[in-house]
Amino acid sequence: MFSLNKIFWLIIILIVVWYVFKFIEKKNKNISKDSEEGSAEKKNIDAFKCSECGLWVTKSCDNQNCPTNL
Ligand SMILES: [Zn+2]
Repeated sequence: MFSLNKIFWLIIILIVVWYVFKFIEKKNKNISKDSEEGSAEKKNIDAFKCSECGLWVTKSCDNQNCPTNL
């Protein structure tokens, strides 16, 4: 009974380790995917330079120190 219990726990540990490994692998893939998408997104953004503060913005200036937001 003791050895059977040991094998049972060994299997549980192996499953947990396998899931953790899979999780880390998935996480790493998502991080690389996100950075790729982020860089691609940046290229497609229609940014313009705020005439008031000189900050690069997409729609309206979100710089709190910008004169247009005061
Ligand atoms: Zn501005």
